[in-house]
Amino acid sequence: MDPKPKRKKGYQSPTGMHDILPPEQRYFQKIYGTCENIANFYGFQKIETPILEEAELFSKGIGLSTDIVEKQMYVFRTKGGDWLALRPEGTAPVVRAFLEHGMQNLPQPVKLWYFGPFFRYEHPQAGRFRQFHQFGFEVFGEQSAVIDAQIVQIFYNILKDLRLKKLIVEVNSIGDSQCRPYYKKLLVSYLKYRLDSLCSNCKRRVRENPLRTFDCKEEKCQRIKAQAPQIIDHLCEECHNHFREFLEFLDELDLPYSLNPYLVRGLDYYTKTVFEILEEGGPSKPALVGGGRFDNLCKVLGREVIPACGGAAGIERIIEAMRAKDKKYLKYPLPKIFLAQLGNLAKRKSIKLFEDFRQNKIPVAESFGRDSLKTQLTTADRIGAQITLILGQKEVLEGTIIIRDMKTGRQETIKLEKVVKEMKKRLKKIKPGTNSRINPNDTNIY
Ligand code: AMP
Repeated sequence: MDPKPKRKKGYQSPTGMHDILPPEQRYFQKIYGTCENIANFYGFQKIETPILEEAELFSKGIGLSTDIVEKQMYVFRTKGGDWLALRPEGTAPVVRAFLEHGMQNLPQPVKLWYFGPFFRYEHPQAGRFRQFHQFGFEVFGEQSAVIDAQIVQIFYNILKDLRLKKLIVEVNSIGDSQCRPYYKKLLVSYLKYRLDSLCSNCKRRVRENPLRTFDCKEEKCQRIKAQAPQIIDHLCEECHNHFREFLEFLDELDLPYSLNPYLVRGLDYYTKTVFEILEEGGPSKPALVGGGRFDNLCKVLGREVIPACGGAAGIERIIEAMRAKDKKYLKYPLPKIFLAQLGNLAKRKSIKLFEDFRQNKIPVAESFGRDSLKTQLTTADRIGAQITLILGQKEVLEGTIIIRDMKTGRQETIKLEKVVKEMKKRLKKIKPGTNSRINPNDTNIY
């Protein structure tokens, strides 16, 4: 191995990739649980695909001239000579799995959802990481716009259930293989006359992927974009009707949406509907969710045309939004009972008693590594326990245990064999959530 210079600091996680520490896990759990509830209600089944896929799956599916494939994919060659990529998004892998497992032969529509890590070699900044997490919902085998509306509704519901407010749903239609080529020509001829006024990136995009010029944030490009022909005025009859129906369904669902004629999304596979969900707060707020219809992707990656529609949400961005709303939102539910012990004999009895509580599904906190009663009572107080059970040498010999009310300090002694039953009874009287007052960022509870 090459001699490496001595590192000044210890090891750190790779740039743009983060550990998910215990306080953050609560958010992941909450989001996962919310997705699972919604998925069950709308009849979606969970799918997990490998983190690595053949690189060609993405270059073919997402498109060679997209930012993701061109610049952001982690691609490497295996010892066996295969080109693999860390998955940058979830739709192409789910389509691959759908086709590989012959799900087109199942009763349609097939509804799948996923949750996991994704990787893009991007410039790390707020809300943009190199390893991030998404959940996604995809429906296969249904061309009606009702599904497009339901997909938007699903993501909207999840964000609402996570208590995010002031959400904006932006929608557009980017046509299909019938009308988009004509529109592209129109757009290119409009942009070609204004090439000198475009940034260098957009000059290239005019050649390779003209719709992407709409994504440019440079002011001079924005000015040009504002006068550009809009695809919505050039949809073929089928796409026009599909979009109209989609909007009618959104109206029916009372979903607040706004038409963004410049929303094109960065991936080649979209057809007809595209949408994003953002929080109110101007253009600086990045999208939380993005998605749309991808009627051609099954054909591109397989043989058959299977209409499909779906979307993906960025979990880190959602957590950021949840934290910004309410710093105290997610508290750890902590046990209301603390088990303290004094002396070796009591410690031995306590670890057994602790198991009895577990078998009876009664959460109990402990600090078996500590010997001093004072320290144990301080811990019990810190976690907000309502009751501390104290087991000392004398109690073990007598077959009893002390129940201490942490609020009043009053103590009583009962038979050890009755304590589980007694705690079950008392827990029913304690209001839920009374001791979840610990700051969720305090990982060092014990
Ligand atoms: P996309 O696959 O680009 O449509 O992204 C869907 C959602 O994933 C976005 O709306 C973001 O919330 C999230 N997302 C995309 N890229 C990143 C990233 N690099 N870091 C964090 N979240 C991301």
